[in-house]
Amino acid sequence: MLRLKNINTYYGKVHALKNVSLHLGEGEIVTLIGANGAGKTTILNTISGVTPAASGELIFEKDAIATLGVDRIVKLGISQVPEGRQVFKPLSVEDNLELGAYLRYRGREGKEAIRQDRDQVYALFPRLKERRKQQAGTMSGGEQQMLAIGRALMAKPRMLLLDEPSMGLAPLVVQEIFRVLETLRRERGTTILLVEQNAKAALRLADRGYVLETGKVILEGPASELMENADVKRAYLGKD
Ligand code: ATP
Repeated sequence: MLRLKNINTYYGKVHALKNVSLHLGEGEIVTLIGANGAGKTTILNTISGVTPAASGELIFEKDAIATLGVDRIVKLGISQVPEGRQVFKPLSVEDNLELGAYLRYRGREGKEAIRQDRDQVYALFPRLKERRKQQAGTMSGGEQQMLAIGRALMAKPRMLLLDEPSMGLAPLVVQEIFRVLETLRRERGTTILLVEQNAKAALRLADRGYVLETGKVILEGPASELMENADVKRAYLGKD
């Protein structure tokens, strides 16, 4: 469904991604693992068009998307849930969700379809429904993460890019969020690329994973194999 081939991405002179190649099949959950600064966020930002690649190929289904802008990429079906949630804090839950659908409004899609999708977000995250009139900035970290995911879903994505959804959240909330990711894959066939510091939880959820070090993919494989890999265990999984 998505293929990166020899992608190089820079921030000025910083060579953040070095010949990165990876792929995601339709309906797969794939995780990116690596230390701080390894390039995980940069991969997500390169796919979503936020930080375009300097060279290499980026193919989503049949389209070459490496040079497309963010809006075009969202329209093709890829939505990103950014690190640190970045919800619109002064706005209500409901208005945040509406903003997630802004390209659909602009494309003159019927309000009814968008309303149905909002109801589906509320079905996935009942907490958001309870708090739909609340100002987003006054909600807990977990609720804001749910809202950030809900907002991304309002664009009707076929692929979700998630950047550290578990950051700073209590284990029970993380479980709830991961359960929703599983539901999305099972019920809608959503393809998911997940960046996580919590490698253990991510590998439990994912089908496959890639390990990154200083901008390069150094290891890849089925999640079950990576979990048993001695280097991965030592560097990223810690003690049980
Ligand atoms: P973390 O887990 O800390 O978020 P990461 O694996 O997501 O790390 P990236 O954020 O992709 O890593 O960063 C990859 C490299 O690019 C790092 O060396 C980082 O310092 C550098 N970098 C990231 N963003 C910028 C920027 N806006 N300007 C300059 N360098 C950047």
